[in-house]
Amino acid sequence: MSSIERGWYDTYMMPNYAPAQMIPVRGSGSRLWDQDGREYIDFAAGIAVNALGHAHPALVEALTEQANKLWHTANVLVTEPALLLAKKLVALTFADKVFFSNSGAEANEAALKLARRFAFDHFGEKKCRILSFDNAFHGRTLFTVTAGGQQSYREGFGPLPGGIQHLPFNDIEALEDAFDSDVCAVIVEPIQGEGGVIAAESEFLKRIRELCDQYQALMIMDEIQTGVGRTGSLYAYQAFDVIPDLLTTAKALGGGFPIAATLTSDKVAASLAVGTHGSTWGGNPMGCAVANAVLDIVSASAVLTGVSERRQRLEEGILAIGQQYGVFEQVRGMGLLIGCVLAEPWTGRARDFMQAAQNEGLFVLVAGANVLRVAPSLIIPKDDIDQGLVRLQKAVAKICEAKGQAAG
Ligand SMILES: *Cc1c(COP(=O)(O)O)cnc(C)c1O
Repeated sequence: MSSIERGWYDTYMMPNYAPAQMIPVRGSGSRLWDQDGREYIDFAAGIAVNALGHAHPALVEALTEQANKLWHTANVLVTEPALLLAKKLVALTFADKVFFSNSGAEANEAALKLARRFAFDHFGEKKCRILSFDNAFHGRTLFTVTAGGQQSYREGFGPLPGGIQHLPFNDIEALEDAFDSDVCAVIVEPIQGEGGVIAAESEFLKRIRELCDQYQALMIMDEIQTGVGRTGSLYAYQAFDVIPDLLTTAKALGGGFPIAATLTSDKVAASLAVGTHGSTWGGNPMGCAVANAVLDIVSASAVLTGVSERRQRLEEGILAIGQQYGVFEQVRGMGLLIGCVLAEPWTGRARDFMQAAQNEGLFVLVAGANVLRVAPSLIIPKDDIDQGLVRLQKAVAKICEAKGQAAG
């Protein structure tokens, strides 16, 4: 028994989150245990972060080995893990250059600032408009939350940065209408994660690319949630066959250790000259050491093909539960980023389903009020998938039973 209590959250921490009542103390693979020793199956992976599950031996080794060598130098010095990781990311993607930071929001902040600066350097300060999309999520700094498409996340934080216009997602006509030569960047998620697990249409991404080329604007792909194998490709742009000018990656990159990166071409990177931008911890050796191990494992073809096998197994199970109880209208997303859209009369109750699953010993996520999101470890064992599905079925059965009783 621990003397540390959940009640302390309400006493000592700012109330911006609403964490579960249980407190996890240990994880291994796709299982977690709370203070009382109760076991949970993890279909959430820390919001698509723990791509290799909890306490993966190779990541523990990479981190402890680095911890015994060098923790931090600040960017007056570059370290071996940072050099190795930058070289690796360049080899695995379209990019020529990498900038490291600590979180998704910071990676997007850097991408947006760089896009503005690039336009300023080459075309003058009038070219500063940024196009983004309704329901998008790009982080919680003032710039990124303004670029994001959720009005409620911006409310009361004004004055907000200007020059950002939101357009309907997957609407080519609206995009064409909004574009002009003052646009410096378009920021888009290949699959809107927080916004409800909604994939961009391939034609839509291709049109963004064309218009960016036509108007000399930069295409920023926010792959913070979709990157590092989540969709079955190392990065989703590779499956969509649309190459961005800037790409941001975070979440799974450190497998649970905070690290993020902004990737781009030589030409664009040149605008981030000495002194233009920076971060105290960005590219710190601990984060880079773990990310090197993550990328080595995830970029192996066995892990990426395993993603589609696991997707199939999960999707079949979820669809079966959906049919049995009539709770899901649609199962969408790519790879192991799965959105289960609630059907009538369950619309708006995603959090209830998440809570019911937790009561049965299963962690799932929501993506808005209407979508249950499943984003497990990319290497979740098949047995954990099957047992997790049993728990999900029990949770759904209980919710339906409660509704039946309320109606009767
Ligand atoms: C999580 C997320 C972010 C923000 O990342 P943080 O590390 O929380 O700052 C940005 N964009 C997308 C698509 C995300 O899923």
